[in-house]
Amino acid sequence: MLRKNRLFTPGPTPILPSAQTAMASFAMHHRTADFRALYARVLSDMKEFIGTKNDVLVLASSGTGVMEGCVSNLTSPGDKVLVLSAGKFGERWRDLAQAFGCVVEVVSAPYGETFSLDAIRGKLTADMRAIYMQATESSTGARHDVEAIARLVRKSGDDTLLVVDGITGLGTTRFDVDGWGIDVIIGGSQKALMIPPGLAYCAVSERAWKRMETAKSPRYYFDFRKERKAAAKGESAFTPATSLFAALAAALDFIRQMGNGDVAAGRVALIENAELAAEMTRAGAKALGLELFAPTCPAAALTAIQAPDGVDSSAMVKQFREVFGAVVANGQAEMKGKLFRIAHLGYYDYLDTIGILAALEHVMAGARRKVEYGAAVGAAQEVYAKTAMVARK
Ligand SMILES: *Cc1c(COP(=O)(O)O)cnc(C)c1O
Repeated sequence: MLRKNRLFTPGPTPILPSAQTAMASFAMHHRTADFRALYARVLSDMKEFIGTKNDVLVLASSGTGVMEGCVSNLTSPGDKVLVLSAGKFGERWRDLAQAFGCVVEVVSAPYGETFSLDAIRGKLTADMRAIYMQATESSTGARHDVEAIARLVRKSGDDTLLVVDGITGLGTTRFDVDGWGIDVIIGGSQKALMIPPGLAYCAVSERAWKRMETAKSPRYYFDFRKERKAAAKGESAFTPATSLFAALAAALDFIRQMGNGDVAAGRVALIENAELAAEMTRAGAKALGLELFAPTCPAAALTAIQAPDGVDSSAMVKQFREVFGAVVANGQAEMKGKLFRIAHLGYYDYLDTIGILAALEHVMAGARRKVEYGAAVGAAQEVYAKTAMVARK
């Protein structure tokens, strides 16, 4: 059969058609009144999307650039920091903090699991300058309890900043950024925002802005203070990724429509969409006798599924791509071959979710596993029907 190329990877994710057209025809210069108006509107909508009153910065960078900016803007060499690590992205925080000369303590959890709050409490001394964590660990499909961890951090005082990599968490997870006292939360354009890679963003608390005045790590492009000053005038410090801003404006309009005219309500609708797709996918995988990789704390951003015994997930990923045009993510690093990951963040609907599960049934049969066709699809349909019924009541 004909195959359409479809991304099911936790970044980049499928692109919103209206964002694609907005980009294609965009040719505005960035130092013009029209662009300044667009820039200011996007930043204001982004606050609604994140759910914060804090200032938001949007930079031309991949997500990791703003992660690095959080380390260089908020800490000095020799500062004690705590990294919560349960996967490849947690390890990235550790490596980044070490690269900038921080004294790094780590609370870790095995891949596929989340942290013990007691272990975090034990390490949270008053001299800890920052805590770095993920909201959802995209390498394992686990969700971490940001609310509970934020409560611990805020109890330990104002000298410890909480920095959350919400790159796959934003748009798939509920946060009360200001209420919980998250100092910086980071996102990326190629995830739930449904546009191509190239923009990273963050919301920054007053506590964090104050820290930047004394932090001594070198920084230039990612000097958040410079960017904040420019943003107040509707500009970026350097040339912005103008066409991606046009795409972002279109994506925020789409989210606003999802919320019947309200971006914050649209964010909730987008989160509910991911939650439902994730629940359908988990039910479908289990109906085929497959095990989830993070069964106790599954994220809505993506579902990581273990390859059956004796099957290499690399071969499954290859089948998905070659037979169905579906790009599913393999495990990263040590997890390669052991699991595959199906994303739900952003522009996914019922038919995408059902379609990938139907393909999974064929891929399982191709791996010579006994499959009752329709088992995964049917289980997902049951979840959908139950949710749709509740929604109608
Ligand atoms: C995608 C992702 C990143 C950032 O990756 P970039 O390739 O730098 O955009 C960071 N953390 C998580 C949890 C991610 O999913």
